[in-house]
Amino acid sequence: MIHSDWAGIKYFNKNENWGNIDKVKTELITRLDTMRAYLGSPIYLSPVKGAVYATSGHAFGSYHYTGEAGDIFPQASMYNAFIAAVQTGFTGIGLYPYWGMYKPVVILGGLHVDIRPGILKTWVRRKDNTYTTVPQAICEGVFNKPGK
Ligand SMILES: [Zn+2]
Repeated sequence: MIHSDWAGIKYFNKNENWGNIDKVKTELITRLDTMRAYLGSPIYLSPVKGAVYATSGHAFGSYHYTGEAGDIFPQASMYNAFIAAVQTGFTGIGLYPYWGMYKPVVILGGLHVDIRPGILKTWVRRKDNTYTTVPQAICEGVFNKPGK
């Protein structure tokens, strides 16, 4: 994202954990800003190295490698965070209810969001690290998890 594009961003700044900010796509940041506004509560970038732009550490072909994905901790329920991500137009949404962030605030449950081309793809990672669909995860009570 180039310097002048930050003028329209309300809730994020370039000192957060973006990795190489020059490699992060403007659309990703503007969508995160829109999602933050929709949600009405903070969204923290994951403190882990490679949380947004990365050169390693993610699945083959990951949108992190093109600066089009972010791993985030919204200060909201998993349900509200998921709805906000869908409404914001992210096209790849992964729910990770067993991720945890501990500083500067404790948030249990995170999301991967990306701006891949094509129709919406969603997934959920269970506690045992297997993956399932959002409807199946609802049946398994993922949105009832205390979280937040
Ligand atoms: Zn991710």
